[in-house]
Amino acid sequence: MNSICLNDLINEVKKYNTNQKDIDLIIKAYNYASFYHDGQKRESGEEYITHPLNVAFILAETHADTDTLCAGLLHDTLEDTKATKEDIEHEFNKNIAELVDGVTNIKDLEFSSVEEVNNANMRKIIVGVTKDVRIILIKLADRLHNMRTLNYKKSNKQREKSIETLEIYAPFAYYLGAYRLYCELSDLSFMYLKPNEFEALKQQRINIKEQYMPLVEEMSYKVSRILNDREIPYDIRIRVKNVYGIYEKLSEGKRLVDIHDLLALKVIVDSVDNCYLTLGVVHSLYKPLNYKFRDYICTPKTNGYQSLHTTVYSGDRFIHTQIRTHDMDKIASFGFNAYWDVQGDTRSVMQKEISDKCQFYTSLKEIDSIFTNNNEFVKSVKSEVFSEKVYVYDTLGNVSELPKGSTIIDYAYRVRGPEAAKLVGALVNDKSVSLNYVLQSKDRIKLIIDNLSKGPSSDWSQIAHTSYAKSLILKNKPTNY
Ligand code: MN
Repeated sequence: MNSICLNDLINEVKKYNTNQKDIDLIIKAYNYASFYHDGQKRESGEEYITHPLNVAFILAETHADTDTLCAGLLHDTLEDTKATKEDIEHEFNKNIAELVDGVTNIKDLEFSSVEEVNNANMRKIIVGVTKDVRIILIKLADRLHNMRTLNYKKSNKQREKSIETLEIYAPFAYYLGAYRLYCELSDLSFMYLKPNEFEALKQQRINIKEQYMPLVEEMSYKVSRILNDREIPYDIRIRVKNVYGIYEKLSEGKRLVDIHDLLALKVIVDSVDNCYLTLGVVHSLYKPLNYKFRDYICTPKTNGYQSLHTTVYSGDRFIHTQIRTHDMDKIASFGFNAYWDVQGDTRSVMQKEISDKCQFYTSLKEIDSIFTNNNEFVKSVKSEVFSEKVYVYDTLGNVSELPKGSTIIDYAYRVRGPEAAKLVGALVNDKSVSLNYVLQSKDRIKLIIDNLSKGPSSDWSQIAHTSYAKSLILKNKPTNY
């Protein structure tokens, strides 16, 4: 792997931040970390400082703020050197000291230890995220660099790190919307866990690329020509699905030809209006598969992702197309980290807004407040947060995200809170359904609430799928009659 130096980091930062005070602070953090790690070596034989430097570089690629970059450089000083939190606060600032401390508190899971210890630890990681999302972003960058250099570790360690990455860190990156980190983390883990399958699929991915590339390039050419004529500035990119993504689809039982987004054409334009104009251009050239069209600009995903998705026919093949603005693209690649960059200086407000708006955060907080038992907590997070989702609408078109398997009862508690106890029925797509109806994506739901209702019947807690609904049902036990 090419080694990088301080200058590379500074140049990467300057792509989005040229403030000299910030640059100076980053250099100071680098010197501080170099001083404390002096004499330490990585298993690769390199100087230890190469690790925090790479971590900061990965963060800079995601346009992280200066405190996050400094904390990335300092992230191992509390654990591995004589540096103290007080000293970091004194030399830098409270925020940086808190971030470094937060990262230090996240311990790797010990696979030899009992499950309870691991689950307690996993809970720390998960709850830590709700405090300051930057802690987990530093941890993700840390893990990514460790995964990139995992070949220097013994094979049992490689396996443990890969399992942990695939079970915790990759889902985190995914649900935070940091797709670029997600793809690399999951591909690297997959490579160590199933080397043969990885190699085979990697080869298939190359074949797919060769087969599809002429079609996608032709489409790219046709679309560009029209956008040029209309003087709409654009940027076109071609994306091939990552190896682990292909593996996941295949293990769901899909055939390669059935995976519609193996190759995607990404058109990035300068405004929302031009997104829709570009969509018009694409559909005038290629027929869409209507049921595949998604407007995530109108109804963003709950991790903030926005884009128009359309899958079109190209001969007997399909091409997945994504249309979005530059800001949307940043968020799609880097998640909420980029959100801050896009939004400028209003970060503390954003942090709050993110945790209020993002279902991911709300669910984590709810589950945290419901369970005292760590095993139960981790089990629920896995089944409700790190799991497939359905997206359903109310009669006004507002979207809600719920874990797959949720019923009308879960939906009622999600949107109405304790008032859901008075639920007596529901219409889904204008048809009456029973309360144990399992929600399907795109369902349009109308709840029927009757204030005279006596409250939930005792089997509701069996019908509910989410911890949140269950906890409210149990709080509001039915009266015996
Ligand atoms: Mn580290």
